[in-house]
Amino acid sequence: MKEYQKANPLKLFAEHVQSIGTGLKYLVKPQRITLFYPEEALSLPTGYRGLIRLYKDVCIGCTLCALICPADAMKMATEEGKKLPMINYGRCVFCGFCVDVCPVDALKETRVHDVAFSNRRDLVFNPDKFNRNFDQPVSMDKPVRKMKTVIDEKKGIRYVPDE
Ligand code: SF4
Ligand code: SF4
Repeated sequence: MKEYQKANPLKLFAEHVQSIGTGLKYLVKPQRITLFYPEEALSLPTGYRGLIRLYKDVCIGCTLCALICPADAMKMATEEGKKLPMINYGRCVFCGFCVDVCPVDALKETRVHDVAFSNRRDLVFNPDKFNRNFDQPVSMDKPVRKMKTVIDEKKGIRYVPDE
């Protein structure tokens, strides 16, 4: 077993000074590592899997989406005599199986990913909410600047405009 050794106070002091120096350096010359969200947003790659949208009019109620879901996130509901899926985003792992299995393309992945809910009940979308188009851009004074990540040897990741 390694014996406990009292730390050298001079070494400790030097480490504290070094930490303060790092803090002062960033105070004088800030190195921002976050995005100015929502004025800036990351460009999403092709095929990005965000919230799923149900097209109620297209769905034939076959239940395949609910059957294939590995996370038990999709259940069928009956609305005016028609079977329609509802989704629980508290369980969904965004695998996309339900979208792929749908024989009539009644489910589509959107690119919406930045959502927030105040309680867990709101994570369950009934067929009506599931049918809603959340893919509407939030109105902003200026257009959102699309950014991409680049690897910086000193900082790790840096965001630059995605021209
Ligand atoms: S994306 Fe995957 S986990 Fe989410 S509802 Fe569809 S099948 Fe289930
Ligand atoms: S797989 Fe498609 S058609 Fe079948 S219930 Fe699900 S959404 Fe409707």
